[in-house]
Amino acid sequence: MYETLSLYIDGQWCQGSRGETEPVINPANGKTVGVLPHASTEDLDRALAAAAKGFKLWRNTSAYDRAKVLKKAADFIRQRIEHIATTLTLEEGKPVAEARLEVASSADILEWYAEEGRRTYGRIIPGRSPAIRQMMVQEPVGPVAAFTPWNFPAVTPIRKMAGALAAGCSCIIKASEETPGTSVALVRALADAGLPAGVLNLVFGVPSKISEYLLASPIIRKISFTGSVPVGKHLAKLAADGMKRCTMELGGHSPVIIFDDADTEKAAEISAVGKYRNAGQVCIAPTRFFVHEAVHDRFVASFTKIAKEMRLGDGLEPTTKMGPLANPRRLDAMEQFIGDAEGHGAKILAGGKRHGNQGFFFQPTVLGDVPDGARVMNLEPFGPVAPIQRFSDFDDVVKRANALPYGLAAYAFTKSAKTATAIADALESGMVGVNHLAISMPETPFGGIKESGYGHEGGIEGLEAYTNKKFVTQIGV
Ligand code: NAD
Repeated sequence: MYETLSLYIDGQWCQGSRGETEPVINPANGKTVGVLPHASTEDLDRALAAAAKGFKLWRNTSAYDRAKVLKKAADFIRQRIEHIATTLTLEEGKPVAEARLEVASSADILEWYAEEGRRTYGRIIPGRSPAIRQMMVQEPVGPVAAFTPWNFPAVTPIRKMAGALAAGCSCIIKASEETPGTSVALVRALADAGLPAGVLNLVFGVPSKISEYLLASPIIRKISFTGSVPVGKHLAKLAADGMKRCTMELGGHSPVIIFDDADTEKAAEISAVGKYRNAGQVCIAPTRFFVHEAVHDRFVASFTKIAKEMRLGDGLEPTTKMGPLANPRRLDAMEQFIGDAEGHGAKILAGGKRHGNQGFFFQPTVLGDVPDGARVMNLEPFGPVAPIQRFSDFDDVVKRANALPYGLAAYAFTKSAKTATAIADALESGMVGVNHLAISMPETPFGGIKESGYGHEGGIEGLEAYTNKKFVTQIGV
């Protein structure tokens, strides 16, 4: 049922040359589901050489032919959806229905990039004399090093691989060691679709050692990282030494503003389902709730009811609505957030504790009347904890929503077109959802501002992230 774990270097599936490994744990029961090989520095050298060779080959392959390979891989992912979704749930814990959606959306992302890669247009710029022809052309940036976390083991790696490959780059990806099977399955689909050897390489190991080694190599020209703000800052500093381009998709702490004219029950339902998706381990999860005092109690009652009724369990059980947290670090983090909030005077309205006696389960939690000073209002909880506050004034709630260094996603609920426009303009955020939370599509730009990072994945912006713009001017001979 679980994917066979391997490294993929220069077109070969292999184990690490020094025999180092680590176990992969099922968060629903703490049992080992697989043994993951680690790449040695010799293996990384082989991956770098392969990426350099693969880049020369792939950049000279037409966008038309590149698209054929990527589309075929998207078809393989769709055909293998049950296997990949099961692997994903076994290593990450989310309900298999959520895993299926994630895998299906990965195929869509790959297909979209395959098509869009054929449209990396340049531009003709009129010259100052009829004899001069000036143009801007887009070229692939070069071999890419990509680093992805454990919360979306399919979508996050595929966004990076698809963008890089569609633009004509080669890639070395280090996916999460905690959820490696899904990325192995995705790379397998690309390899089976005929991607030439060296163009894509998959490695695992100690994250800091791999990133430092790859970023120090002159072969790597671009870094794409998804993960926490501190690690993103560290990698951006390493990248600066080689003046390498970066895309940084870091954390968020998304405000959700419920105005007094919103459909309160619907807003509560959409918000609660969004909050507890993937047990809250989502960088764009709705996480800081500001509810107008006129509708506060109704909103809290509806939201809390959904939290209390949510069915927890192994993600492979069809009735499960929320699985375990992906690793024990998140359990400790939830307990610290909740203890600190209580210490600041917040009330626990639902949950608040670990659940069951095996695996990493934590109850869907609602915290009421949480003061501004509580840690959970200031640091990304990345788990199933929803802190709720009241507000009464537009300017005041905007100030509170914009108060943190994060700026990834923000949401608002209102029936007024005027308020919708005003709040979308006022929020300091890379993405804003009004009356719904669906802000991540293959064709739309995804990215943050402030300490949530820079650059985009998704949309034409996500493809441009992997191209250099070259200006060429020529005069008739
Ligand atoms: P972490 O900060 O140690 O790691 C986050 C991710 O970065 C992991 O996948 C890890 O393997 C990777 N990483 C860590 N150090 C690295 C390095 N030097 N080079 C390359 N990759 C490195 O924390 P964690 O406990 O795994 O996750 C907790 C926090 O990370 C959460 O609170 C959340 O803020 C953040 N996070 C964000 C996202 C996101 O989608 N933006 C995803 C996962 C985790």
